[in-house]
Amino acid sequence: MSTMDKYVSKTVQTIPPSGIRKFFDLVSQLEGVISLGVGEPDFVTPWHIREACFYSLEHGYTMYTSNQGLIELREEIALYMKRHIGVSYSPEREILVTVGVSEAVDLALRAIIEPGDEVLIPEPSYVSYSPGASLAYGVPVAVETFAEDEYRVRLDRLEKSITPKSKVLILAYPNNPTGGIMRHEDLEALVDIIIKNDLIVMSDEIYSELTYNGQHVSIAAMPGMKERTIVFNGFSKAFAMTGWRIGYACGHPDLIGAMTKIHQYTIMCAPIMAQKAALEALRHGETEMKKMVENYNYRRKIMLSGFREIGLECFEPQGAFYAFPSIVNTGLNSEEFSEKLIMEEKVAVVPGNAFGVIGNGHVRCCYAASVADIDQALDRIGSFLARHRKG
Ligand code: PLP
Repeated sequence: MSTMDKYVSKTVQTIPPSGIRKFFDLVSQLEGVISLGVGEPDFVTPWHIREACFYSLEHGYTMYTSNQGLIELREEIALYMKRHIGVSYSPEREILVTVGVSEAVDLALRAIIEPGDEVLIPEPSYVSYSPGASLAYGVPVAVETFAEDEYRVRLDRLEKSITPKSKVLILAYPNNPTGGIMRHEDLEALVDIIIKNDLIVMSDEIYSELTYNGQHVSIAAMPGMKERTIVFNGFSKAFAMTGWRIGYACGHPDLIGAMTKIHQYTIMCAPIMAQKAALEALRHGETEMKKMVENYNYRRKIMLSGFREIGLECFEPQGAFYAFPSIVNTGLNSEEFSEKLIMEEKVAVVPGNAFGVIGNGHVRCCYAASVADIDQALDRIGSFLARHRKG
């Protein structure tokens, strides 16, 4: 068959396929694989939330909503943001309901980036930001973070990466893939430089409910930061609602308005029945959500002590549901380790370099899996290490 590559835009050609997908494909071809690969809750969405969706269909809610999303959902999001991060947003002008945080990230980058603008991305990082920046004709710039700094953004490293072209800083804490968080003082240390360099912050707080030691803090709550921060949050992780595809963005009316313009022409609105379910999640979902978070915390501890027992060095994740152990003592790189592990022991993890070059020498293990699976996986990884450890 003739190749049609020449028709594909250069921008799209240069974007690598997601390093996570490749491992999903391998998992689906093999039998008996324990997957610590997928970044998704193993819980089904709580029943009362599913029921809210059934009722919405029963009552004939099958139409478009306002482009920005149901006003009652935006009002509920405003109340939630006030209690959760202490920032007030106007439901009419400062909140946009999107098809997952994924859409919000894309809209924000496209609404703000001019060709050639630089987007500062602390790495290791969730896989969407860098391609998202490129698709908006921006230039992704990695700001490296390290286990010895608990994967927090260090002021000196950020300062070194800033140029006159820098326009956006992405902060994604609790972090995927490292489990790092930024505490109040860590964020406070960055505020002056952000304001001095006139940066817009995109703060992806999708894992904020999954903070295990202490309280989540948003940079949007710091003096002078609300107007220059777009906060993303959503339902996928905290409420086990990945398939429903509902997220939202909160920020200055000019920025949310610009994002809404793109959203209204490309997406129109998020599905009404999923918005109804999200409304139920915010109104009555807290108890079940907290139970799930407690459960992740329990599994986090099992995975960490398991790693310690089998001699896998790992930063103690403080949030999200990932651990990011170092595999350097095997002498294998992340891809080799992950491929051999799945072929020899049938355990799927994600190679750390999928999250940026700095992630090499690590693998991401998601502990939103059953305790039995985590235990089995730890046994298998232990046998693997016994064979492959160097020195
Ligand atoms: N942001 C981060 C940091 C994520 O890890 C993910 C999914 O893994 C997303 C956003 C995507 O979320 P959504 O399902 O709301 O599109």
